Amino acid sequence: AKKKYARSVQARFTEDMINMIEDDLLAEMNLRKGLDLNEFELYYQPKINSFTGEIIGFEALIRWNHPEKGLIPPLNFIELAESTGLIMAIDEWVIENAFKQLEKWKECGENNYTLSINISPRHFLHSRLNQFLKECLDKYEVNPCQFVIEITENVAMEDFERVKNRIAELQNLGFSVSIDDFGTGFSAFHYLQHFPIQEIKIDRQFIRDIANNEVSKGIAKTIIDLAKLLNLNVVSEGVETIEQWRTLKKLGCPQLQGFYFSKPMPITELDSWLTSHEQGRIPLH
Ligand code: C2E
Ligand code: MG
Ligand code: MG
Ligand code: MG
Repeated sequence: AKKKYARSVQARFTEDMINMIEDDLLAEMNLRKGLDLNEFELYYQPKINSFTGEIIGFEALIRWNHPEKGLIPPLNFIELAESTGLIMAIDEWVIENAFKQLEKWKECGENNYTLSINISPRHFLHSRLNQFLKECLDKYEVNPCQFVIEITENVAMEDFERVKNRIAELQNLGFSVSIDDFGTGFSAFHYLQHFPIQEIKIDRQFIRDIANNEVSKGIAKTIIDLAKLLNLNVVSEGVETIEQWRTLKKLGCPQLQGFYFSKPMPITELDSWLTSHEQGRIPLH
């Protein structure tokens, strides 16, 4: 009886393994198909000057318009893209489309918007990144100083010298590099001091209770002051209320992003949003 039991467990295990592998293969095939069929879309979330309400630029955030499953957020497929290596193709798709959008704005006389994109840790150190960015610079009429590359701080911890060199290369090409979700990983002063970055983004978990929790407020203030000391731009993510805006303004945070100003929007919606903000700013309160 014991033998029989062991065999059935073994069989179940094998079956589960096969099912898992099948699921993974299917998911990978779907993702590949999604790329081929151009099912991805960039949504844009405005970045606002905290003191004037002015629209400074946008962060491009990817979405997958799945023919059956509808709109899929990045957190549901970026991990798969990373484990299968498809992330390179996806990130390159994002980069190229961001360049196209900056070029379109330029054609409309909008030369001041910045556009931020997110690069996966896995892709950031790959030699192809630089090459691809150079090709885009040749191909599109875009000023690299409008282009911001966001990486999460865990990238920064991977291989100090290599990451530092990569950031320096990007800086030499004229791009800005920003540390995303600051405070959620291994925040180290060492890299902040030595990497040629231009910006840090305070993760929204520190912004959430900023208006009514003295500790959250203190942490945000400390990060803002640190950024100033290091001559870095600082953006607060996840601003959802006017009270958070007021608090961050008082703390001297120069740039803000969040649902209070706008959710990420597809380009057509962004166009009408911009038309409804003719002055190029959010009204101050
Ligand atoms: P992230 O770069 O930190 O982007 C900010 C996320 O917070 C976005 O989620 C955005 O929609 C959301 N958000 C913005 N304002 C608010 C707010 O006021 N409240 C709340 N609750 N959320 C807010 P999203 O678009 O789902 O993206 C999630 C993450 O996926 C991004 O975090 C980024 O790490 C990654 N991601 C997004 N697009 C790309 C991409 O094109 N390539 C790569 N490699 N990663 C991407
Ligand atoms: Mg980001
Ligand atoms: Mg972030
Ligand atoms: Mg994030």
